[in-house]
Amino acid sequence: MSKDCRPLKDYVECIETLPDGTKVETRIPYAKNDPGPSLPRRAKNFAVATVKHKAKGSPTASDADVDARFAICQACESFEFRSNRQLTDGTVIELGKCLDLGCGCVLANSHYQGTNKLRWADQQCPIGKWGEVDGQDTV
Ligand code: SF4
Repeated sequence: MSKDCRPLKDYVECIETLPDGTKVETRIPYAKNDPGPSLPRRAKNFAVATVKHKAKGSPTASDADVDARFAICQACESFEFRSNRQLTDGTVIELGKCLDLGCGCVLANSHYQGTNKLRWADQQCPIGKWGEVDGQDTV
């Protein structure tokens, strides 16, 4: 396992190579002017979103819709990059977080298997940059 880091203007960028060849890229900000919503506020936002999502049948967005939403988020001033993970098959999992006070959620591309706001078809951007999409009910 190896880890190479280099200081850049606003953050330290590190690329770590895991024993299986997976590459993980992280950027650690020196200081954030905007830390995003507090933990209690994020928990409340997530709880409200979860109740609404389940009430609608937990519809999931397609990979194409997830990636289209993610592209919009990546260009947004409220998007905070968290990490890129390159798997041995070349797949890249990209992860970030929304710093808007009405959100605070994990944002990721379609390769991410964890909880991802962009995968929930009924979700909307808190400032209207993307909206609901047709989804598939999972319950
Ligand atoms: S969810 Fe909306 S506000 Fe948050 S990063 Fe994405 S586009 Fe920006």
